[in-house]
Amino acid sequence: MSAAIDVRNLTYRYPDGVEALSAIEFAVQPRECVGLIGPNGAGKSTLLQHLNGLLPEDLNGDANLKIMGQPINRATLPEIRRQVGLLFQDPNDQLFCPTVFEDVAFGPRQLGLSESEVRLRVEESLKQIGLPGFENRLPHHLSLGERRRVCLAGLLACKPSILVLDEPTSGLDPGGKRELKSLLRQLDATIIIATHDLELVVELCSRALLLNHGRIVAQGPTVELLSNESLMLSNGLERPHILLHQHPHH
Ligand code: ADP
Repeated sequence: MSAAIDVRNLTYRYPDGVEALSAIEFAVQPRECVGLIGPNGAGKSTLLQHLNGLLPEDLNGDANLKIMGQPINRATLPEIRRQVGLLFQDPNDQLFCPTVFEDVAFGPRQLGLSESEVRLRVEESLKQIGLPGFENRLPHHLSLGERRRVCLAGLLACKPSILVLDEPTSGLDPGGKRELKSLLRQLDATIIIATHDLELVVELCSRALLLNHGRIVAQGPTVELLSNESLMLSNGLERPHILLHQHPHH
């Protein structure tokens, strides 16, 4: 079986010349949940945007990146966008409709589903993320945490097989975080999460990738990686409190 995500020797330079990713290599297997950690500016968002073809700007298909065995190019992009749901770091970049209903319905409509199926999916996904009945609310009147959840509902409504989440817990209160974790645990999807919330990584991700200066500095089982205090400190992070009384297994 193909890896869900397979990245080989991926290098990316922004048009202004900043090399944001250098020789990145990793794979994520179907249904794995992997954490992507690293300090600000490490390249996490840039990497995630490659996973559904938002970057590079010209998709003149090198095969450095495969999703479910398929290289991303103009021909495969529509199918890859169906498979991969990307949650943006800033919900304001993702929400652009006058009502929550329209926003959550946008993706399912793009899939060409019937209007009754669209309504059903919107209702179900709003329930799933803990905002039942929010259809007629105005996205710009919601709290940041609520907006983030509406974005997630929009992804779930498309039933993607791969979820790519950029800082999904930021702006959520403790109850909201708990609900998000239990929701993510129930999903039957491959998940990659870029986050500073190391407890989230410990609780949800079996494996983690540590990115710094556009390179993968380390990857391995979450507890082992995050317990490595010198590695964490030298990369602008710290060992999460949740691990203070645990030791890595050798
Ligand atoms: P992270 O998500 O880990 O904080 P980013 O992927 O946002 O890191 O940024 C990686 C590097 O690329 C940083 O040096 C950042 O300044 C640079 N960068 C991000 N977006 C752009 C852009 N649109 N144009 C030029 N440089 C960018």
